[in-house]
Amino acid sequence: MNVLVTGGAGYIGSHAALRLLTDGHAVTIFDDLSRGNRGAVDALRPLGDLCFVEAELGDRAQLDKALTDRSIEVVMHFAAKAYVGESVEIPLQYYRANTAGALSLLEAMVACGVDRFVFSSTCATYGEPPPEHIPITERCPQRPVNPYGRSKLVVEHMLRDHLHAAGDGFAFAALRYFNVAGCDAGGRLGEDHDPETHLVPICLQAALGRRDTLTIFGTDYDTPDGTCIRDYVHVDDLIDAHVTVMDALRPGDSTAYNIGIGAGSSVREVIDASRRVTGVRFPVTEGPRRAGDPPALYADPSHVREELGWSARYTDLDEIIASAWRWFQAHPDGYGG
Ligand code: UDP
Repeated sequence: MNVLVTGGAGYIGSHAALRLLTDGHAVTIFDDLSRGNRGAVDALRPLGDLCFVEAELGDRAQLDKALTDRSIEVVMHFAAKAYVGESVEIPLQYYRANTAGALSLLEAMVACGVDRFVFSSTCATYGEPPPEHIPITERCPQRPVNPYGRSKLVVEHMLRDHLHAAGDGFAFAALRYFNVAGCDAGGRLGEDHDPETHLVPICLQAALGRRDTLTIFGTDYDTPDGTCIRDYVHVDDLIDAHVTVMDALRPGDSTAYNIGIGAGSSVREVIDASRRVTGVRFPVTEGPRRAGDPPALYADPSHVREELGWSARYTDLDEIIASAWRWFQAHPDGYGG
């Protein structure tokens, strides 16, 4: 198939492009490189039929051209800003990138007759679910508590409203994913954010001595060890879910799936696992809570398992972190190294 991967130079999008190319699909990466890495695109080039368009989602002319020139049949939409803390500080940029960006993409798809959309949504659309909704099913009310979650939830509404009007002329799936970690087993792609804000890479950078310390954001949450709980899913499993969903999409489909391993790990547990995997007892300090962080988020992924047979193969936190550690050891400076 001919697949447009927006954000394909980023961490998750590049892993999607890798899997699609390996499976023999023709891939067009659409990325403005504001957060993505040219090095990821370079690593993907030898692997198959890849075209790279460096442009913003707001650039309709480039979008229309990419969709028509490459006869795109399905879009996987990853391009977004995804830092919870930053979204609190610069919310309008989040609505611009995540909400207006998706609108521009959807309008271009309609204009060019592309009718299948796999949307990278987020568990942040659930906000702070009450204890009776943990683990989180797709029926949990979506009440985001930060601009990041809201900027993505609006897109889910937009897709549903469009499907209502377009009927069998459109199909979409929203994958609400939890925390993503790990790197491709072949060591070609990895995680290289600037700035880096995510817990697992920060632990590994601390283990490499690239950071003096790691700060735990909040130790007074109502959780067993006082730190936030998240569901860490391996990036290869996450992409496997995308491909499974893409293959299953039928005209008129409007679905949402929670993608996680179905178990939570606290910040302290991630630190302990990182210390075990790396063998480095990097320093840790305790700090105040980070704005916008809910105490506990982990998935009940039974809906996607029952409907499509997908479940995570990596369920052991040490194994997930070990896969990321291989990349960080080989590429301490990321794609720049
Ligand atoms: N976290 C932390 N210190 C850091 C980075 C993250 O304590 O330097 C915590 C953060 O507050 C959250 C969890 O680790 O509870 C996961 O955060 P991350 O940014 O990796 O992902 P998010 O859950 O925001 O998508």
